[in-house]
Amino acid sequence: MKRTYLVAGNWKMNGSRVANAALVQGIRAGAGACKDVELLVCPPAVYLESAAQLVAGSGIGLGAQTLCEQEKAGAFTGEVHGAMLKEVGCRYAIVGHSERRALYGESDALVARKFRTAQACGLVPILCVGETLQQREANETERVLQRQLDAVVDLCGIAAFGDAVIAYEPVWAIGTGRTATPQQAQEAHAFLRAQLAKRDGRIAASLRLLYGGSVKADNARTLFEGPDVDGGLIGGASLKADEFLAIAAAAQAQSI
Ligand code: PEP
Repeated sequence: MKRTYLVAGNWKMNGSRVANAALVQGIRAGAGACKDVELLVCPPAVYLESAAQLVAGSGIGLGAQTLCEQEKAGAFTGEVHGAMLKEVGCRYAIVGHSERRALYGESDALVARKFRTAQACGLVPILCVGETLQQREANETERVLQRQLDAVVDLCGIAAFGDAVIAYEPVWAIGTGRTATPQQAQEAHAFLRAQLAKRDGRIAASLRLLYGGSVKADNARTLFEGPDVDGGLIGGASLKADEFLAIAAAAQAQSI
């Protein structure tokens, strides 16, 4: 089954009005060469509204890096509600990024609630899962992926994955310059798809699985060759328009 590749840029806590305008302008200038690939940028929350204007009419989508798990707005100081993200133009919301899990203590249960709230607000969740180096070395990768996935399936049901994306992001590869081999990425993706297929084959077959972890212009092509790799969640390399576009071009090359 042919799935549309998605290449998403997670800008993390980087950017400024001026820098964002230049970055989006650069991405827009080259996006036409990647017409079969869905492109997405995820700036810090404070810039989402201005970024929505920058991407307007370009086909480039907008995503939030996280959202509040609460379904009702109210007394949750500092948080951002999914409906607010939707209102300012987001189509996607990343949930469970490893930095949120590790630095801000987000548990599997909290991530599952964020996933559910994102969908309730009309956002497509991009669920990040991935093992640490210690877990990989202890042969626990599949067990960890299963646990992180099950937390969401148990709360939201398998049907929820009909409108979701999963990003496999081995923690040891994020921002380290150390990338999973194409084989390691494909194995993890195939495992995740197989777990979903046990519950619903059609949903598993159509779900997009992104790889994230030090994807660069020079390794994207081989990473995207895996039959279960449907694009990438790109951190550092998404902050340079040329590099991000080269990654998108690698996805485009797989699309035709
Ligand atoms: C990420 O932030 O999701 C990520 C994959 O970062 P990097 O590409 O910099 O490893």
